[in-house]
Amino acid sequence: MASSTVAVIGGGPAGLASAASAASVGADVVIIEKLGFLGGRPIEENYASITPYLRSAEEAMGEVIANTLAHPGVSVRLNTTVAGCSGEAGDFTLELDGPGGTESIEVAAVVVATGFQHFDPGRETQLYGYYEFDDVIALQDLEAMLKEGRVTRPSNGEEPKRVCFIQCVGSRDRQIGNEYCSKVCCGVASKEATEVRLAVPGVEVFIFYIDMRMYGYWETQIYWPAQEKHHVQYVKGIITEVLPKDGRLLVRGEDTTMGRPMEVPMDLVVLSVGMEPSPGTRKMAEVLGIEQNRFGFIEAPKGPLDTVATSREGVFAAGASLGPADLEDCSSSGGFAGARAAAVALSARGALR
Ligand SMILES: Cc1cc2nc3c(=O)[nH]c(=O)nc-3n(C[C@H](O)[C@H](O)[C@H](O)COP(=O)(O)OP(=O)(O)OC[C@H]3O[C@@H](n4cnc5c(N)ncnc54)[C@H](O)[C@@H]3O)c2cc1C
Ligand code: SF4
Repeated sequence: MASSTVAVIGGGPAGLASAASAASVGADVVIIEKLGFLGGRPIEENYASITPYLRSAEEAMGEVIANTLAHPGVSVRLNTTVAGCSGEAGDFTLELDGPGGTESIEVAAVVVATGFQHFDPGRETQLYGYYEFDDVIALQDLEAMLKEGRVTRPSNGEEPKRVCFIQCVGSRDRQIGNEYCSKVCCGVASKEATEVRLAVPGVEVFIFYIDMRMYGYWETQIYWPAQEKHHVQYVKGIITEVLPKDGRLLVRGEDTTMGRPMEVPMDLVVLSVGMEPSPGTRKMAEVLGIEQNRFGFIEAPKGPLDTVATSREGVFAAGASLGPADLEDCSSSGGFAGARAAAVALSARGALR
């Protein structure tokens, strides 16, 4: 008899949502995660808190993991990846590469939830000095600092008096080929800016932006309070370079509202790096034989009304493997992909009406 199991590749927010959804309608689920723990980037990168209400990321993800694992029929393979895939919808064989060596498992359907990686700010020609200057950091570095409860300048351990965020690093950039908006960085930068204001008394915080893109409720949940309650200063401008000067960093660019050049000394510069497909997303697309779009994310060929089907029947995708996504997107696409995969699995078992 054909297997009635759904394989979910990736145990981050989208993979966990997929697994919970498939299991809640009665499918057996195996989560295949290459790391030694579940939770995806929010756990791996030590996020302090999540939008919009600054809830502890560890607590929130802990709850999602516990809820997913509470479903009977969910099993987890840690430190494991998929090395091969053969067969067809309802009857796939996956080659797993795990701690005990290689092994084949039979599954009816697959959900790819292998997520994203951060744009590497040292990779291209932008002159922000991420690898040159200790006090130039990225969003995820600041998250880890906030989680430890201290915001300091890495160069000398002192609290900063002035902090700025530079938006759209590695996104919306035709020169480097990442023309898309990474979707979360305006909200995440505003959230972190608020947290810096709360953590360091008297600190001035600036956000240099091209456009502020706050999706849906984030406008009122994050952006307005950041400005009106926490006095984060938003400056529409383009930053061209960051230079060291007198023990601080000189941020140079153009204030596009005033139409004039600007030079502002800062103690800590935070780069709002964008999202790119993770190496695991690229690899799984290859192993599963599914199409990628020109940025390397998984292609959803059926378009906006079927966002989780891939080019191979019985293989679905969810979360940031499909493109820039926030946690809400991951829950939605994960839930949808899990239900679609479960439908394939349950019909293979003959349990679907
Ligand atoms: C600094 C920062 C802060 C953020 N804060 C927020 C926030 O506050 N609110 C919000 O809504 N969004 C936030 N986001 C976005 C959020 O991180 C993503 O929406 C979310 O992590 C995407 O989840 P995912 O499951 O699709 O991918 P990921 O979180 O990337 O998880 C993918 C999982 O797949 C695993 N994997 C990868 N390849 C393989 C493989 N080949 N085999 C097996 N497993 C594999 C990985 O190890 C990982 O566990 C933030 C992003 C950044 C950069
Ligand atoms: S969310 Fe904001 S910072 Fe991120 S790419 Fe889009 S506009 Fe730029």
